[in-house]
Amino acid sequence: MALIVQKFGGTSVGDAERIKNVAQKVIAAKKQGNDVVVVVSAMSGTTDYLINLGKQITQSPSKREMDMLVSTGEQVTIALLSIAIESFGVPSVSYNAAQIGIKTTSDYTRAKILDINTERISSSLKEGKIVVVAGFQGIDENMNITTLGRGGSDTTAVAVAAALKADRCDIYTDVDGVYTADPRIVKNAQKLSQITHDEMLELASMGAKVLHDRSVIFAMKYNVPLRVVSTFIENEGTLIVKEKEMEDLVITGIAKKTDETRVNISCIPDQPGVAAAIFNKLGEKKVNVNMIVQSVGKDTKSQISFTILNSDVEDTQKIMEELKKELGAGEVTFDSDIAIVSAVGIGMKANAGVAAAVFDELAKNKINIEMISTSEIKISVVIRKDKADETVRLLHKRFFGE
Ligand code: ASP
Ligand code: MG
Repeated sequence: MALIVQKFGGTSVGDAERIKNVAQKVIAAKKQGNDVVVVVSAMSGTTDYLINLGKQITQSPSKREMDMLVSTGEQVTIALLSIAIESFGVPSVSYNAAQIGIKTTSDYTRAKILDINTERISSSLKEGKIVVVAGFQGIDENMNITTLGRGGSDTTAVAVAAALKADRCDIYTDVDGVYTADPRIVKNAQKLSQITHDEMLELASMGAKVLHDRSVIFAMKYNVPLRVVSTFIENEGTLIVKEKEMEDLVITGIAKKTDETRVNISCIPDQPGVAAAIFNKLGEKKVNVNMIVQSVGKDTKSQISFTILNSDVEDTQKIMEELKKELGAGEVTFDSDIAIVSAVGIGMKANAGVAAAVFDELAKNKINIEMISTSEIKISVVIRKDKADETVRLLHKRFFGE
């Protein structure tokens, strides 16, 4: 007998019929003799709908109340799924985050899971029940409701699997695995049978929406066997593994990110401590900075550009206004018409010339590169947003052929 955590995304629980379909799948796993814990997202469209409602009241609603609001989406689905499971004659119980102590930091809208109390889940499993857990939400030390960031139910699932020492965690979604690129952009994108944690983490952080990036961190840290599979098509999906059996590809995947803004601060003093001053302040406000480029100083002045999430623009504007005065800097500009396209692959370590190939492809096609950043297994470029899809297609063709 195995202990399995299954997570179903918004599309999989999009309406009553689909919820019944999920109930059948979960019951099938239980009838095979497994203990089953199910983590669910809100029904598709619900979280967007709720965020929109909040924004109709005021452009900048408080983050605490937004978490109170959006966390209700998952509470609807857990109840409906438990009802569906019981309607087929199998005992089930649903729990929200507070009921099973999914403790998080207090960073509303982007909280991090600190601890999960497994007692209640375990005793319900012992009673033969299928346990249904609300994804995406948590509670902080003062019992405030928090959420984990968009797509965060994946992370709930892997964290629950880690806490329960589950035998595996299957992420059921509307695609049947991880692809070399988004199949909606690249027609002949290929499904990967395996991908390493490191590659998956880079791809997820750089825009591949198939898994929440923090879920990969949990899987890596706690050795949770993780798989992405389709709710609708029967196949093996993609396994997220520590090491791949065979390394045949230089590049594993191409991803794009279109939800970031570039911030540019010019005429800053070219002296020690300036970058620290800027990024410490942003860090204090929990603004996540992605790419950073500092240009070579000229006439004792230099310039720094970095990218942040669009959702952090407001906070960043305030911080930068203060900093501008403190540092006696020049202009601060914000540009949200950018996209970041990344090529990721462990194979890069052993193959020189990948960066050159990326730049060459873009040059040939007259796509201007505005920022570049690299890691051992990733090359990212900032380009104009309206060139994002074309760039993904060009790079896919370059590395994977027609
Ligand atoms: N319902 C949340 C969202 O739409 C969390 C999730 O789906 O994983 O982002
Ligand atoms: Mg999702």
